[in-house]
Amino acid sequence: MDQEKKKSFCNIHANFNNDLLLFEQNNIHTKICLICAKLITKNIDKIIQHDEFLHADQSYIFSSFPPLEYEDIYKTIFKEIFIEKINNYFIELKKDINKNIDVLHNQVKSKLIQMEDLSDNQGDIFLDIYNEVSSKFDIQKLYKEYSQDSEQRLKDIIKEKYQNLKSNTEKLSKNISEYQAIINKINLKTPIEIQQKILGLIDQIDFFEKPKKDINNIEFEKSKSYCGSQKLQIQRLQNGQIQINQSIDRNGVSYANFILDPNQKYVFRVKLQSHSNSDSFLLVGIIQEQDKDNKQLHNGICYNERGNNMTVNKVVKGNNVFEGIKADIDKEIEVRIHLAQKIVKVSNYPNYQNVVELENKQLILYETQYRFAVEIYYSVHKIIITHLSIVDDFDDKM
Ligand SMILES: [Zn+2]
Repeated sequence: MDQEKKKSFCNIHANFNNDLLLFEQNNIHTKICLICAKLITKNIDKIIQHDEFLHADQSYIFSSFPPLEYEDIYKTIFKEIFIEKINNYFIELKKDINKNIDVLHNQVKSKLIQMEDLSDNQGDIFLDIYNEVSSKFDIQKLYKEYSQDSEQRLKDIIKEKYQNLKSNTEKLSKNISEYQAIINKINLKTPIEIQQKILGLIDQIDFFEKPKKDINNIEFEKSKSYCGSQKLQIQRLQNGQIQINQSIDRNGVSYANFILDPNQKYVFRVKLQSHSNSDSFLLVGIIQEQDKDNKQLHNGICYNERGNNMTVNKVVKGNNVFEGIKADIDKEIEVRIHLAQKIVKVSNYPNYQNVVELENKQLILYETQYRFAVEIYYSVHKIIITHLSIVDDFDDKM
């Protein structure tokens, strides 16, 4: 076939091989050159190279052959191929990482053996010095060959040990510190830091473009059965911000329409507004997925503008964000959340003068899903979600 193909030049375009197939309905050519093929069809999908056909193996799929009623099927098949590529990616990644780790481990092992020899040597030197300064064998000898003047000789040796106490201590401690220096060369801190970095990098592997989250593409929902939540009014303002208020005086919880990703760092900003009511029961916090439709937010992981029923109240900068009871409140706060590091911090915005954080970080449970949530009671109060962003790193303003 190869030979036959080589011989087959186009009659019209002498420089071109007839190395293509064109499989179009009513326009089938089993040998055609590129120029001819392009002239007689606009459907480039229908042109296939001889070689492509010849080398197609068990798992090869043409991008548009055989002809089908719905060509979409090919797109789906190619998605399948992509799934296979992703699977292969992970298999290769594991293999490569394992290989590199094995190489490194072996290098470290042989280095450790060298160090062991070195420390064995150091141990021998230590024993030599010890045997010398202790006069162990001289004393042994005197006892074995006990004679008239042995007692005096022994006494002299022991006295001499006391005279040389300082220099003997020096001799031995110098040797120990040399030994210590070898041991101290072993450093686990940096390798552990690198291990954490590698795991962090693996977490960042992502094949899918996530839509960016901001205030414009999130919604707030009413708790389905907690107290008076269904009486809440949630509306999007013209500037995109989300306003939540209560139509009667009763507790209501509202939560964001997405589960917080423990590895993401979220920045929410919220306006708390109260007029003619000093009982500012205005709460902002996070609620467990299983509790969102039937439990209160207060007493959970939350900040409360009334100053009580809250756990986010450990002052880390300035004073408490709650500034005392006031009948008129119009303040904006920033809430930072990073569940993986058990961070829930609240600060007044935009000056960040006062910062509080969750007092007992153990309240944030691992393997537990949370949502951002607010709670409100009085119909004269308002909570407005003004901002949401996801950041790579929190800045150091709070
Ligand atoms: Zn031609």
